[in-house]
Amino acid sequence: MTYSNIEKTGADRTFAPHSIMVLLVDDQPMIAETIRRMLDGEDDIDFHYCLDAEEALNMVAAIHPTLILQDLIMPQVDGLDLVSQYRSHPECKEIPIVVLSAREDPNVKAEAFARGANDYVVKLPDRVELLARIRYHSQWYIHKRQRDEAYRSLQESQRQMESMNLKLMHLSTHDSLTNIPNRYHFDQMFSGEWSRSGRDKTPVSIIMIDIDEFKKYNDALGHPAGDKCLAAVANVLSNILKRPADLVARYGGEEFVVLLPGTGAEGAKSIAEKMASEVEALRVPHPGSSVSDHITISLGVATSVADKSGRPDRLLHDADEALYVAKKGGRNQIRMAK
Ligand code: GH3
Ligand code: MG
Ligand code: MG
Repeated sequence: MTYSNIEKTGADRTFAPHSIMVLLVDDQPMIAETIRRMLDGEDDIDFHYCLDAEEALNMVAAIHPTLILQDLIMPQVDGLDLVSQYRSHPECKEIPIVVLSAREDPNVKAEAFARGANDYVVKLPDRVELLARIRYHSQWYIHKRQRDEAYRSLQESQRQMESMNLKLMHLSTHDSLTNIPNRYHFDQMFSGEWSRSGRDKTPVSIIMIDIDEFKKYNDALGHPAGDKCLAAVANVLSNILKRPADLVARYGGEEFVVLLPGTGAEGAKSIAEKMASEVEALRVPHPGSSVSDHITISLGVATSVADKSGRPDRLLHDADEALYVAKKGGRNQIRMAK
């Protein structure tokens, strides 16, 4: 590879990312020397040249110039073929190319533009013209690179923002201990489903669930064990729900609430039964319980169709009352609201 960074201090110098870098591909050292002189003293322009056409493509890809000055007639390769090669190479396909032709020939000119050249000059133009063309094409390319970079980083930050929004959304709607929806999320969904129930005249059911004698569980086994148990119960409860609109949320300390849109009392009761039996099937030992050797839950179920007089908090209240009756009745049982 023959190339030279004649103007500056050495070939391995690190270039400022947006300074102009010209690569001349021409087999004649005289041309290279003449152009070098023309560019001498232009501090914003780095000049390289390549005398060997077979090395040109590699060199363009390696140094990534902001402009290629391409001779058309070279010993081993047709200059126009090189233009086509630059255009089909991913690293070089957008770099401006100014072809240097020995003469003004409309056919060659047309062919050069058809292959992807950006400009055509008869060599050698005078210094002012050469500098103007170098600066014009290089600045266009530098600005395009800057725009592409800005667009890429905008897309990247949009992607990060979307993923951050999803995380924030999850954090604001989920309980961190159990990773199921929190009470705030339940309230939002319940309000929507209640309105739908009013419009469609379909029932909504609520199940209130409370772990039996959980205080004693904490007292016997410690708070960290209590936390683990809560997460295990939450997991079992949420795995039972299959319909997309069904929801189980952590309502308070060791209380859960289940929202079952479009579900009548019988359907809600069977889900409540499944929940009670699957929590028991966990077989989490509960040494302090007076009800069972294992963790159990009490459940209160209420169902209603929304109408103008009915209020959603009434349904919650009814489910809570039924839960209270279940507790009073000895725990580890399901009660349906009247
Ligand atoms: P009951 O059968 O009447 O529901 O009795 P209980 O002991 O479960 O009810 P109580 O309301 O007296 O106590 C609830 C207990 O739940 C007290 C509290 O220590 C425990 N608890 C609430 N939130 C958490 C929590 O996030 N982690 C743990 N480990 N325990 C909790
Ligand atoms: Mg309890
Ligand atoms: Mg409680």
